[in-house]
Amino acid sequence: MPLIHIIGAGLAGLAAAVALTRAGHRVTLYESGPAAGGRCRSYFDRDLGCRLDNGNHLLLSGNRATLDYLATTDAAATLTGPARPIFPFMDLATGERWTVAPNLGRIPWWVLSPSRRVPGARLRDYAALARLRFTRGDASVATVLDGAGALYRRLLQPLAVAALNTPPDTALARLLAAVVNETLAQGGAACRPLVPAVGLSESFIDPALAWLSARGGTLHTGRRVAALAIDGGAVRDLLTTDGPAPVGPGEAVVMAVPPWVAPTLLPGLVAPDAHETIINVHFRTQAAPIPAGFIGLVGGMAEWVFVKDGIVATTTSAANRVVDQPAEALAATSWADTARALALPDPMPPWRVVKEKRATFAATAAQERRRPGPRTALSNLVLAGDWTATGLPATIEGAIRSGNTAAALLSGPRMR
Ligand SMILES: Cc1cc2nc3c(=O)[nH]c(=O)nc-3n(C[C@H](O)[C@H](O)[C@H](O)COP(=O)(O)OP(=O)(O)OC[C@H]3O[C@@H](n4cnc5c(N)ncnc54)[C@H](O)[C@@H]3O)c2cc1C
Repeated sequence: MPLIHIIGAGLAGLAAAVALTRAGHRVTLYESGPAAGGRCRSYFDRDLGCRLDNGNHLLLSGNRATLDYLATTDAAATLTGPARPIFPFMDLATGERWTVAPNLGRIPWWVLSPSRRVPGARLRDYAALARLRFTRGDASVATVLDGAGALYRRLLQPLAVAALNTPPDTALARLLAAVVNETLAQGGAACRPLVPAVGLSESFIDPALAWLSARGGTLHTGRRVAALAIDGGAVRDLLTTDGPAPVGPGEAVVMAVPPWVAPTLLPGLVAPDAHETIINVHFRTQAAPIPAGFIGLVGGMAEWVFVKDGIVATTTSAANRVVDQPAEALAATSWADTARALALPDPMPPWRVVKEKRATFAATAAQERRRPGPRTALSNLVLAGDWTATGLPATIEGAIRSGNTAAALLSGPRMR
């Protein structure tokens, strides 16, 4: 089977590499950064003296493509999470705490159970979920879920902001519906929260690289593809920072770079061009364990707090609105929320603020229209990435599916 060149060793590129290798191809990955993983990786932070994840990442057990990818690369056991679907929350305004705990089956009787449902939510609020599931067109999350009262404020809004990384008044409801249809609507068995037990790279990146290497795949880090040499409607060379890499007859290319890079390599390509920030604040401290390893906070700067050995880390999504605040202020506010939620002592421990200004494309109707499919006008070039038209927001699941789709196209009869 011919060699496939993959530009970008984030999750989309790695998923494509794994799927293509399974289909019998040889693969070579070109990665501009010093390590693979892109936006989903771990690194050593010198100031805090420990490894950090690029950002807290949460998966749900309904993310089938992701779980398949992890099973293939022998990494399924690197994830951890509670045995049941549980989502602990606290309202910082009132001090109330509750745990949303969907039952495992598809009939959602949990909405009737006071110990499992959202406090203050009326039964009719849950009708909003049915409205959401069948939403069409360009309606925003806030419009479709209008009137869902406490259910919206205390569950659906936090989930929407986390999944779409976009303010609800502009976030596209259809994209949230796609997530809900594959998770909450399938019953609690598809909603078990999962996080890496050690770190993002230890789950999603290192096992895949070892798996690929054992099967003849190669990765060139620090090798940026600066341009494509195109001739006769096909890519002939990748012009890399280490010189040209020829694309031989019958060979093909997967371009799995972020949306702000892709149009520089393929002029004329329309891709999302508006982004939203995610802010993570990492605190070097020991905290008492919490049942799910995380807690959702309503009404704070910190929207989610994740706890693992020696590190407590907060997430603030759709954070363009606060990204210009000084790091010290963001850390102080996030710590105040965290200390309250976890009953930790007041003095702020050593911290690191990470502002990912282009964490994901803004999940709006206008940006959705800019998402291209995997095919291009070039006969041997396909696209992958969380920003391509996956039908999902920019997530791990979307990135992995896009890589699988690119691989299927190249392994299928038409592109051989
Ligand atoms: C802070 C944060 C929190 C997140 N939380 C979650 C979460 O909880 N759950 C979830 O499902 N998703 C989450 N996501 C989203 C998820 O991380 C992304 O959807 C996914 O990692 C995107 O993968 P990708 O391969 O499409 O893109 P990328 O990870 O951006 O990979 C692209 C790769 O291409 C490389 N590259 C760029 N230009 C070139 C070039 N010219 N030549 C060669 N290589 C190049 C880059 O260095 C990079 O490695 C989060 C993202 C962030 C930033």
